[in-house]
Amino acid sequence: MLRGKTALVTGSTSGIGLGIAKALAKQGANIVLNGFGDVEGPKAEVAGLGVQVAYHGADMSQPAEIEDMMKFAAGRFGRIDILVNNAGIQHVARIENFPVERWDAIIAINLSSAFHATRLALPAMQAAGWGRIINVASVHGLVASAEKSAYVTAKHGVVGLTKVTALENATSGVTCNAICPGWVLTPLVQKQVDAKAAALGVSNEAAIKLLLGEKEPSLQFTTPEELGELAVFFCSPAANNVRGVAWNMDGGWAAQ
Ligand code: NAD
Repeated sequence: MLRGKTALVTGSTSGIGLGIAKALAKQGANIVLNGFGDVEGPKAEVAGLGVQVAYHGADMSQPAEIEDMMKFAAGRFGRIDILVNNAGIQHVARIENFPVERWDAIIAINLSSAFHATRLALPAMQAAGWGRIINVASVHGLVASAEKSAYVTAKHGVVGLTKVTALENATSGVTCNAICPGWVLTPLVQKQVDAKAAALGVSNEAAIKLLLGEKEPSLQFTTPEELGELAVFFCSPAANNVRGVAWNMDGGWAAQ
């Protein structure tokens, strides 16, 4: 379905981003990976799906590096057809104790980076008359949790940006939608499991049960593969008129 198209997925060396990159690659899209840590492993996983893969290590908190990545991707593949704004970090603390530097980093990486990548990707999509922008927000783009002020603020902002991007392009073939996962067991969440296990003196398994039980009625994690399939749907012809939605895959979290 996506053969000949190119998808750039930010923060795709791990977790949800890698899951989405692989789902799009399975549909034939060439992939530009981004993110920190091991690069060769994720590159090989995506290349193994029979598509071309490139990597750019832009730090998504740095607008100049984002600009360089977008130029690199366009130079390598001609155009970015699908942009997935996924890179994100977390920090958990009450507002009065929240480190200012962590606030700034979360707003830059989880929110402003999506604005920068979107503004740089849109002109070529508009000229081509087709494009897909998928923002990985969170159930925290819809509802809040204590001790996650920067994250909740950034993710609500991403949902707002999604709606504006969708509206400004509503009469064109360029759509923008958000994915709002509940708990997904990635390194980002494992850190929160570890913190709970340490604070309560319980096992990893017990901490996972508590974490899910507090928020997610299904008591199950959503998987990167499931989120990847939602991204594929947003790229499909059936989703031509799906514009500006924030679609939660959260085990009933936001239904409560
Ligand atoms: P993860 O830690 O597994 O992956 C995050 C990715 O972003 C990694 O590839 C990392 O290298 C990259 N990254 C971090 N800082 C970066 C920077 N400054 N520049 C470039 N890349 C950077 O986390 P994840 O759980 O897969 O999270 C991916 C997205 O999904 C995030 O936006 C997160 O907020 C969102 N999300 C996660 C969950 C969850 O339960 N895991 C739930 C809802 C939303």
